[in-house]
Amino acid sequence: MKSYDAVVIGGGPAGMTAALYLLRAGVKTAMIEKLSPGGQVLMTSEIENYPGFPTGLQGWELADKFTAHLEEYPLDRISDEVRDIEFGDPIHTIKVGDEDVQAKAIILATGSRYRKLGIPGEERLLGRGVSYCALCDGNFFRERDVAVIGGGNSALEEALYLARLVNKVYLIHRRDEFRGLACYQDKCFTHEKIKVIRNTVVDEIQGETDVETLALRQVDTGETSELKVDGTFIFVGFEPIMDFVPDTVEKNRNGVITDVEMVTNIPGVFAAGDIRSKMCRQVASAVGDGATAANSAFTYLEQLDS
Ligand code: NAP
Repeated sequence: MKSYDAVVIGGGPAGMTAALYLLRAGVKTAMIEKLSPGGQVLMTSEIENYPGFPTGLQGWELADKFTAHLEEYPLDRISDEVRDIEFGDPIHTIKVGDEDVQAKAIILATGSRYRKLGIPGEERLLGRGVSYCALCDGNFFRERDVAVIGGGNSALEEALYLARLVNKVYLIHRRDEFRGLACYQDKCFTHEKIKVIRNTVVDEIQGETDVETLALRQVDTGETSELKVDGTFIFVGFEPIMDFVPDTVEKNRNGVITDVEMVTNIPGVFAAGDIRSKMCRQVASAVGDGATAANSAFTYLEQLDS
């Protein structure tokens, strides 16, 4: 059985930063990642608010830079999905794929996944006009009409990205006020290809084999209508990926609960990035969480050894 001082679960900005700090401190470290390293950053079109890149950069470019930085260090990479964790004192056992991996310290950094609307047609027409990733699927809708559902930063940013490709973007939000940053709101509200539809919910995504129309309902008047679109991009938030995290770890519906040092209620277990229950979900804050979690794990390992 493979055995490490620290195992980082998740290869997004939080996990990669934690691994970098642990390796630089000389800790024998493995990182477990289900897919390619990068996390949600890989699905982000343009990142404009990561310090040091004043002109912005593509999500994949930043992920590549994080990956390249790690390549200088002896990191063991395990590409598989964690099924369960058995906590021990002081050795924990991580059930990954068909094997078990042991670790004295674990950093949970699996991030979050997009939230679904849960309306009729959403599941059935997934990949047939329904999408949660503008960067992945936007190209299929060149010169066509699409809807973007949501009022946060993701919806606004991705509406702007899609407006570069498509004929028309209908930005549909259930309230009058938008949650996203003022700078994105200004750009969306004045963009000639973006039409903002406020106080409106989508009750159904309709279409025989592909998306054809959306059934809309005005929240205040109850008035219903149909909107003809070729595609629908849904950005209504994210939920933490913590299915594999045992019930003994304290959590709420927003994520794993930690203190400011990223320490959970289980000795030797830390959490960083979007898996945490917190307000600020940014690449910059994920990186900060990763560095803090690594520092806490390092201190914990030193105390174990002494
Ligand atoms: P978010 O900020 O949670 O916004 C979700 C949006 O979806 C809200 O406007 C919400 O409406 C709406 N919504 C939720 N459930 C809905 C439903 N059932 N029907 C209709 N609308 C629904 O999510 P996000 O935009 O994905 O962002 C997630 C986090 O990442 C945030 O902290 C965000 O700031 C951050 N982020 C930052 C950047 C950036 O800084 N450039 C980019 C992307 C994301 P209400 O407003 O009415 O609740």
